[in-house]
Amino acid sequence: MEHLTLQDVTVPRIGLGTWALRGRQCTETVLTALDMGYRHLDTAQMYGNEAEIGTALSDTGISREDIFLTTKILESNLRRDSVLRSVEDSLRQLRTEYVDLLLIHWPSRSVPIPETIRAMNALQENGKVKHIGVSNFSVSQTREAQEASEAPLFTNQVEYHPMENREALRRFCREHEMMLTAYSPLAKGRVNRNRTLKEIGSRHGKSAAQAALRWLIRQSNVVAIPKAASRDHLMENLDLFDFELSDEEIREINALGS
Ligand code: NAP
Repeated sequence: MEHLTLQDVTVPRIGLGTWALRGRQCTETVLTALDMGYRHLDTAQMYGNEAEIGTALSDTGISREDIFLTTKILESNLRRDSVLRSVEDSLRQLRTEYVDLLLIHWPSRSVPIPETIRAMNALQENGKVKHIGVSNFSVSQTREAQEASEAPLFTNQVEYHPMENREALRRFCREHEMMLTAYSPLAKGRVNRNRTLKEIGSRHGKSAAQAALRWLIRQSNVVAIPKAASRDHLMENLDLFDFELSDEEIREINALGS
């Protein structure tokens, strides 16, 4: 596994997305992924699977401090009191004392960004949250969150894959020493139908999905969180660290998003 280090924090370049994993299947998939070497998990209050992930965290033999765990605050929980209450509930469900990363899931239409960010800072101060960030924020919303925060923002999690151009946001994040977390990095499976990605993948004995993930995580401040339920997909998405894309291949993939 390759890692990214920013703000003295080290994060595995590939995490497991867990949206749509539910019930026993969620716990089993997370346990399988941890066995295979995944050490970075992405959930959210909205996914309704924090308790199932908590079961996996308590059943695995892997130490909590070796796992990078992210959750996100539901849009209806962004008032100060709801942030504090709902994150306590998330921690109970996840069966952990802290999360590594807490994000605002979506910008609120009614709650000012500083109100939510300061509540998140309070959770950082009492050790329940190590780092904070945002998701689905534009550059200007990210800047506003950053200005309101007493601690540096760690990431903006947005949809990002070869067909989605995120250059402006990625540059902003890099200039502010922030990570960009690529969600739906396989375009929900669509990357596999892309001829360019298929051809590039096959030149390296890899799939289109692997070419897309390699392209994402070669970028200095990017990590990706593909969701996979099947064992083959889980394995494939970790099998990325024995090949490099050429400059020409990178240019070809860059062109898919323009
Ligand atoms: P995704 O990861 O782009 O795609 C998941 C789909 O691709 C699943 O159908 C999966 O199939 C398939 N797949 C996985 N690995 C594959 C491979 N190697 N080859 C072919 N197909 C493969 O989509 P996503 O679930 O939307 O995004 C990933 C994660 O990002 C989510 O689970 C969630 O944690 C996060 N997310 C965050 C937000 C946000 O607002 N912050 C929004 C959306 C998603 P199987 O499941 O059958 O293996």
